[in-house]
Amino acid sequence: MNIILLGAPGAGKGTQAHAIEKNWRIAPLATGDLLRRITSSETGAEENPLSIELREIMATGALIPDALMIGILEEEIALSKYANGFSLDGFPRTEAQASALEGMLLKNGLRIDAVVLLTIDEKALQARIEGRLFCPSCGASFHSSLNPPKREETCDMCDTRLERRKDDNAETLRKRLEVFHGQTEPILPFYEKQNLLIKIDGMRSIDEVAEDIQQSLLKLDTRS
Ligand SMILES: [Zn+2]
Repeated sequence: MNIILLGAPGAGKGTQAHAIEKNWRIAPLATGDLLRRITSSETGAEENPLSIELREIMATGALIPDALMIGILEEEIALSKYANGFSLDGFPRTEAQASALEGMLLKNGLRIDAVVLLTIDEKALQARIEGRLFCPSCGASFHSSLNPPKREETCDMCDTRLERRKDDNAETLRKRLEVFHGQTEPILPFYEKQNLLIKIDGMRSIDEVAEDIQQSLLKLDTRS
């Protein structure tokens, strides 16, 4: 089974990719991680022509051409770890890319079986992020409303004054959500038309979301 995983920041996409891997033995394929791995000097790939080309493109801040990205993905999914399928994260982001991906998969006798969109309530997510508190001394974490410390703004474990993380603010979240919408909305109609889109409420507990995804995928599995 091959899945595309879509979700706003804070929806728990990475966690769910691992839950899907556990339940279906299909490997997460995050294009960001893949590109980092290909271009990383640690993997010894730095003299590889593809690595050089990619680093040149990424250094200019330009987007990686669709045909190149499709070629990279084609090579990657041929690896044995994807024998049962993949959950793709980070690609496609345009309808042209979605269509090119479909063509490449078809050529390899494969297809996308489901597009899982983890939906969020933006106001609730904002409250969730803004309420986060952590202890700079022992690292314990709290939440002003969901998991409040016994004494206001004070660590239960070590009495240190609690702090908020600098990037836990409404402005950062708003920017991330904008990027998410810009990268996700263009491809939704493509997959909606093919009846592949599964919307999952991503605001519940990790286990509830995982169970909901599992039930949806089981239904698909019996259908095909
Ligand atoms: Zn503490």
